[in-house]
Amino acid sequence: MGKITQELATEQEARDVAEAARESDWTEPSFLRELFLGRLRLDLIHPFPAENEVEKENARPFMEKLRDVMERVDSDAIDREGEIPESVVQELRDIGAFGIKIPREYGGLGLSQVSYIRAIGMVTSKDGSLTALLSAHQSIGLPQPLKLFGTDAQKKKYFPRLAKGAISAFALTETDAGSDPANMRTSATLSEDGSHFILNGTKLWCTNGTRAELMLVMARTPDAIVNGKPKKQITAFIVETSWPGVEVVHRSRFMGLNAIENGVIHFDNVRVPRENILWGEGKGLKLALVTLNTGRLTLPASAAYGAKAMLQVAREWGNDRVQWGQPIGKHEAIAQKIALMAANTFAMESIAELTSAMADRGGYDIRLEAAIAKLWNTEAGWRIVDDTLQIRGGRGYEKADSLRARGEAPIPVERAMRDFRINLIFEGSSEIMRLFIAREAVDHHFKTAFDIVNPKASRKQKWDAFLRSAKFYPTWYTTRWLGSIGGYGEFGTLAPQLRYIARTTRKLGRAIFHAMVRLGPKLERRQMVLFRAVDIGAELFAMSAACTRAQMLRKTGDANAVDLADLFCRESRRRIDAHFENLFGKNDLAIYRVSQQVLRGEFEWLERGIINAPEMAASGLDTAPEPMREKEPAIVR
Ligand SMILES: Cc1cc2nc3c(=O)[nH]c(=O)nc-3n(C[C@H](O)[C@H](O)[C@H](O)COP(=O)(O)OP(=O)(O)OC[C@H]3O[C@@H](n4cnc5c(N)ncnc54)[C@H](O)[C@@H]3O)c2cc1C
Repeated sequence: MGKITQELATEQEARDVAEAARESDWTEPSFLRELFLGRLRLDLIHPFPAENEVEKENARPFMEKLRDVMERVDSDAIDREGEIPESVVQELRDIGAFGIKIPREYGGLGLSQVSYIRAIGMVTSKDGSLTALLSAHQSIGLPQPLKLFGTDAQKKKYFPRLAKGAISAFALTETDAGSDPANMRTSATLSEDGSHFILNGTKLWCTNGTRAELMLVMARTPDAIVNGKPKKQITAFIVETSWPGVEVVHRSRFMGLNAIENGVIHFDNVRVPRENILWGEGKGLKLALVTLNTGRLTLPASAAYGAKAMLQVAREWGNDRVQWGQPIGKHEAIAQKIALMAANTFAMESIAELTSAMADRGGYDIRLEAAIAKLWNTEAGWRIVDDTLQIRGGRGYEKADSLRARGEAPIPVERAMRDFRINLIFEGSSEIMRLFIAREAVDHHFKTAFDIVNPKASRKQKWDAFLRSAKFYPTWYTTRWLGSIGGYGEFGTLAPQLRYIARTTRKLGRAIFHAMVRLGPKLERRQMVLFRAVDIGAELFAMSAACTRAQMLRKTGDANAVDLADLFCRESRRRIDAHFENLFGKNDLAIYRVSQQVLRGEFEWLERGIINAPEMAASGLDTAPEPMREKEPAIVR
């Protein structure tokens, strides 16, 4: 049996671990994979999924109870005291809020992904800490991976407990393993009699960890030997927090989400029965990634409902607040913010509803859609919170309690801002999402042609790549220039936007191909070139979701959604055009050069006159980064 190596992973090892966890096959169609190849498959998302009336009726009693609980929750007190009262948790348990998607046969509500995100969205519009509690349990905690990968015995054992409200958590992150799981040190080794794994290590920032009964813990199991070389294995274990050796050693407190139950969990020789492995040895990271394909759909919905709450604040204040003889919503600078806020909120909700409906319907590969939904909605939502704070002026910066104390409406925009910011970091930071999407966006080209320019490829590999390319590219490339003029008449006033999406999709496909030809293997190191391509794809997806949903709403009553979709598309096009204009980043290398000068301390004089921040070494992060090559940014895949 292999050993468990504990040194910090090299760049190559980190890439190998990520590649091994990657789902490399595409067995179901994907709107976005096609889009990055320059092919618009509107049929995959149009007509926009209509409301499932049966599901809506099934969900109604729960949604009404949830609304009732949420209307009574005192979120300012939760924020102020940093604790969720046990009575609130129990009420949520009693209405089934911890088992929304757990099948009815196991005591859950058996509702769909769409119902789930609407429920969590409603919670977010009032209270971020409660969202963290419910969502860490159901989006990344035990229920979702158990549903996907659990054995019958595991489901029978754990689902009923989870549905009743046994809180669960997901423990992946460690001090040295943030975005990069290759550095994981928590280990699990088989006991001598082979019946148990012995778990040792410490997990950081585990949401619900300070309160959970059950945890899904990712741990290193002994390296597998592949082609004579050790290969890191990460395995997922179901761990009961009542077992000897599990200890909460610290409760972490953050900028926002004041009552989040998050902390540092230590495992000291914890005996985990072998049957508590979920899915299989060495499959932990892949399990985490597959779980996140749907788990990641919660944050885009949360962001959309947070944006709806901000829109309501901005609309009312824009009307009520009079300065310089006019309601501030009449001054163009504020009016613009309000209009764009509405258009972006519409696009965010369209993305959230579309991706979740696709997950419910099945038959699609939504890994890219989920990643873009997470990336795009959280970034758009953050700008909306920021704009709302600006529109509320000084009141936006003032705490709700302080507003209340001097007789004003306790509108918690300050709290919303504190609570929202983390969305761009956890469940895959914006940068990691862009990397993940970029890897898939170029995958087809890499598989087909990369070896032609790959200096490490053998003659045979180059020749094979040449043959593959000769077969694929002539037709593909030529047709990426051809498109019909007109079309999309059924979209009425939105038809020009659809035509733009169609021709820009082809342009994006060409641009990614051109980038590969122009930069060759260096493309791997040009994150910003790839990220701009990702951002164009994300905007095209947002436009498509907004237009198809507006078209659906036109027929079902909310006809003026077309105005929002149209405005959204106009602004999105400006952003897309700017990304194309700067695709190869005229200043990218100059910027990178200066960044390395900064890191080497060559501009330390610029920091003169300040009180020094605490030394990194004192914070436990004392591993100095490897010196970086000045002209060669770090690799991206
Ligand atoms: C409130 C909160 C709740 C959390 N809940 C959980 C939980 O329940 N379970 C759990 O396991 N974890 C949890 N986390 C951890 C969270 O998922 C991590 O913070 C996140 O994965 C990022 O890791 P890191 O903070 O160590 O950042 P790092 O990985 O150190 O990254 C630092 C910065 O560098 C960027 N970066 C890193 N690598 C690259 C690269 N290759 N290219 C470009 N940029 C890069 C990142 O995007 C980031 O901006 C939580 C964290 C917080 C703060």
